[in-house]
Amino acid sequence: MPDSNELKPRLHDLGGGFMVRRLLPAAQRRSVGPFIFFDHFGPVTIPAGRAQDVLPHPHIGLSTVTYLFEGAMMHRDSLGTVQKIEPGALNWMTAGSGIVHSERTPPEMLQTPRRMHGLQLWAALPLASEEVAPSFTHTAAADLPKISMGGTAVRVLLGSAWGVASPVATLTPTVYLDIELAANTPLTIPPLAPELALYAVDQDFQIGDRIIAAQTLVTLEAGVAVTIRSENTARIVLIGGEPVGPRFMWWNFVSSSRERIQQAAEDWTAQRMGSIAGESEWIPLPEKGFRA
Ligand code: MN
Repeated sequence: MPDSNELKPRLHDLGGGFMVRRLLPAAQRRSVGPFIFFDHFGPVTIPAGRAQDVLPHPHIGLSTVTYLFEGAMMHRDSLGTVQKIEPGALNWMTAGSGIVHSERTPPEMLQTPRRMHGLQLWAALPLASEEVAPSFTHTAAADLPKISMGGTAVRVLLGSAWGVASPVATLTPTVYLDIELAANTPLTIPPLAPELALYAVDQDFQIGDRIIAAQTLVTLEAGVAVTIRSENTARIVLIGGEPVGPRFMWWNFVSSSRERIQQAAEDWTAQRMGSIAGESEWIPLPEKGFRA
């Protein structure tokens, strides 16, 4: 595998100094399976009294996939959902024709220092479902299957692996695994989907003899099993699935149509995309507007 299969993180400020490592999209690779966006935030300790809030903002044409290792956030959306997102739960929000959501620090956590660590991915929707009705699905950690293999634990968040399937419904074939790889214990991963990538959350690891640095997203050769190992216990996520085709992405909007993104931008500016009970603030469109 050439090094061009390795994507390095770019630091990105979500607002107010909330820094994330962005792995997708990248110049050399736009997507892996349906995944068009990959953000890794933390691990970080946030001082007492400082809220880390993502104010109400809209999405179309995608599903957001939120998974925490540490910390918690309060999700609210324009469907009326109020859901505390906690470590190990899988949160799949389909925007489809349009949704508005906020992600805020739970008030009861604000007065003490707290940890935050997690991943937020976006999956593009297939053409036939781009304008599907919005929905939000929370699957608790206890409801996600865990496979134990020689000290290694694999949580099947989406799709299936080693004959074990996630209960979470997706709109296209998708796989997402959280692998806690035991030290010095090789794990062979079969070619679970046409497009796959591995991301080392916290430790360097090896694919065969090749060393992959922590916080690198490495895409895998199609149809080929890989054997991974690490000197230390390592947390590695696998993402992939069937690609859904090229999409336009601008701000929080994803579509196969430039005109649809323009429409969403106008709808948000006019506050026609719905509102969240109890919320009055909202994030305006970027000043550098969309140009079709
Ligand atoms: Mn969002």
